[in-house]
Amino acid sequence: MSNVAAPAEAPVRDHVFHRNLLKKYPVAVRAAGVYIFDSDGKAYLDASSGAVAANLGHGVQEIVDAMAAQAIQVAFAHTVRFETPVMVETAGRIADLSPDGLETVYFASGGSEANEAAMKLARQFHLDSGRPGKHLVVGRWQSYHGNTLGALSAGGDVGRRTSFSPMLAPYPHVSAPENEPLESVCPHLGSPGEQFDYIGEFEQVIARVGAENISAFICEAIVGSQQGAVVPHPKYLGRVRELCDRHDIVLIVDEVMTGFGRTGKNFAVEHFGVTPDIITFGKGVTGGYAPLSGMIVHDRIVDVIRERSDGVFRHGYTYSGHPVCLAAGNAALTYYTDNSVLENVVAQGRYLREKLDELQARQPRMGPVRGRGLLLGFDLLDVRGRRHITSEAFNEMAMQNGAIFYPGKGRIDGIRGQHLLIAPPLTIQRVDIDLMVDILEQTLTDVDVDVSSLIINERNAL
Ligand code: PLP
Repeated sequence: MSNVAAPAEAPVRDHVFHRNLLKKYPVAVRAAGVYIFDSDGKAYLDASSGAVAANLGHGVQEIVDAMAAQAIQVAFAHTVRFETPVMVETAGRIADLSPDGLETVYFASGGSEANEAAMKLARQFHLDSGRPGKHLVVGRWQSYHGNTLGALSAGGDVGRRTSFSPMLAPYPHVSAPENEPLESVCPHLGSPGEQFDYIGEFEQVIARVGAENISAFICEAIVGSQQGAVVPHPKYLGRVRELCDRHDIVLIVDEVMTGFGRTGKNFAVEHFGVTPDIITFGKGVTGGYAPLSGMIVHDRIVDVIRERSDGVFRHGYTYSGHPVCLAAGNAALTYYTDNSVLENVVAQGRYLREKLDELQARQPRMGPVRGRGLLLGFDLLDVRGRRHITSEAFNEMAMQNGAIFYPGKGRIDGIRGQHLLIAPPLTIQRVDIDLMVDILEQTLTDVDVDVSSLIINERNAL
């Protein structure tokens, strides 16, 4: 029965299965530009673009109009039977933005689905190529690829994996590089000083489980939620590519968070000059206006599927290529170009970085700022003699102050604890960046005084 009919004074049962059933969430009733407003009229500066998805801000009329027009024209046509003009056009535009060779686009709805599809396509490609043993996906501890069981198996979010570990596929994992201190990276990257041999670790895994059993390697080019905008050494991804080539391993780069300009390039792999076999995308492709995701596949895989599987990828979702979601994606891509969004990311990303560096110099709780474009992050440090704070609790306090960041928990070995990701809409302007940084500073200051509310917030967090 609906809540609406209940008398105003009667206790109303909440029928929503919230992420945290005990927590009281503010009610979002309106959104415009980089702000979300709750039912009390409070404004929140959305410094995390929701879940790094609302990349174009809220209330973009052109995208809404395109979705409405498509819904009237053809709201749904199953892609097993039909293609639609909007699907053909959007695929072409995405292929044009991608590195050369990645020319064919498969659509799904969410990022997890896209990664599931990519891992299955890699397997089918090997089967079709006469390598039937290849089935394992090598993932990295410091990467997240989604919450469905396959994606969770390949990902490295220990907190999300633990309860479900008996259900996960036994995929091997390697470590992901720390942020780029160029002078202290692994020997394989040719720098003096030595930290950890990331490439050597991957080689050891290949030797241990056998290249003949490894189907794919999956990673984020710049790690979002698991490390908080960590950028690897410039040569790291190239070395991974070499190993994959040597051992017939499909290289899947997960650009669900980084794709479509977030890091100042269309795709984050462009920072490293590497061409993956498959790029997965999601989130920003529609700017969060509709669930659309997918994978962009290299010709060398597509050609094999065409020839050996009669062109059939043995996979599919009901909502693959949903026309209304594609209309949102197509209109969002137009908006990106017409409004020079990429240029804005570069300019505002530089400005935000300067402001955060200045803040970091006077805030002992902030670790060094890292990241690219408008995907920036820092570790939330403990201060001797002061209380420890989780990034979730910190974000709760920031929300009270009027801004939403993206908190994260970091590494498995406890070396790095809590971090904060800052990922505002790519359309943000200086005036809002100034306000965001002021709220961040206010919250960093509040942490040391407001101990009581902090305890409550920590309990409510998550
Ligand atoms: N891959 C990356 C890098 C992500 O950041 C996410 C979500 O945060 C996913 C995959 C999963 O996407 P979704 O939540 O849309 O399934």
